[in-house]
Amino acid sequence: MDRKVVIIGSGPAGLTAALYCARANLDPIVFEGNQPGGQLTITTDVENYPGFPEGIMGPELMDLFRKQATRFGATCEFKHVTKVDLSKRPFKVWVGEDVYESEVIVISTGASARLLGLESEKKLMGHGVSACATCDGFFFKDQEVLVVGGGDSAIEEANFLTKFARKVTIIHRRDKLRASKIMQKRAFDNPKIDFAWNAVVEDIEGDAEKGVTGVRLKDTVTSETSEVPCDGVFMAIGHIPNTSLFEGQIKMDDMGYLVTLNGSTQTSVEGVFASGDVQDRVYRQAVTAAGSGCMAALDAEKYLESLH
Ligand code: NAP
Repeated sequence: MDRKVVIIGSGPAGLTAALYCARANLDPIVFEGNQPGGQLTITTDVENYPGFPEGIMGPELMDLFRKQATRFGATCEFKHVTKVDLSKRPFKVWVGEDVYESEVIVISTGASARLLGLESEKKLMGHGVSACATCDGFFFKDQEVLVVGGGDSAIEEANFLTKFARKVTIIHRRDKLRASKIMQKRAFDNPKIDFAWNAVVEDIEGDAEKGVTGVRLKDTVTSETSEVPCDGVFMAIGHIPNTSLFEGQIKMDDMGYLVTLNGSTQTSVEGVFASGDVQDRVYRQAVTAAGSGCMAALDAEKYLESLH
């Protein structure tokens, strides 16, 4: 199964790379992974993707990305890559038992929700603990929930949860939000949203049967602890790049993001390009991811030309 271009990942970066590679007659194949369409498929309204003045739902936007890429001949497969060998060209990509060989690989595997790392968090995940308000908010009708974090995600999740919950409390470890001003204003103006400043979650109480019953909070200034009853806890404390597949094969930074060279999408392995959140610890927007997907396709095209 020889290909010119294999694209791993199907968020804005992967599908934009697919669109550009398809239009360059490179016949790309996209392995969409465990979350086809990427992180935008678990958000609701996307209000800041240019070209949609009224906003657009995340899943709908990603369907449009996919349609546009396949219209020009990209193949999108709902499959998950299990192993890669980047030690020599052609590179090898395993999808279970199937092996694909490719001259170029574009990595757009994105990032996943970061968790606190508590034992109780793991135990109660899906039983009142969640990292996706869009997926699970509905279960908390007229209940009280907490959102942990102080960035745009936390505010977005909190606002969304007020559609269902009676009360939403944002737990933030500092006394200032990291979120953009427009998002902050939205949270401050929402009468259902409350804040617990300078607070971290030390433990989550409950069991699989009853679900979450409360948390123990610690004040980061006084070190005092308090018990706060609640029915659910939503984690919104950032993301970690999905790079475990490439460990030991491509250069990564101290946080596990793929390193790209000199403002391009070229990784430390010639012929392997990276785009989107997997290589971006700064901007992490759908539009910047799409832009870097375009760059990866152009870099890939130029590289392939240089080979022949
Ligand atoms: P983020 O901006 O990195 O914010 C993470 C938040 O979690 C920070 O407030 C951080 O606290 C807190 N945090 C991190 N680790 C923690 C821990 N172990 N315990 C407690 N708190 C912890 O991540 P994000 O909110 O997911 O946003 C990621 C990117 O996507 C950003 O660039 C954002 O602008 C973008 N985004 C945009 C939108 C939008 O425009 N509508 C929506 C969602 C996301 P500190 O502040 O103290 O570091």
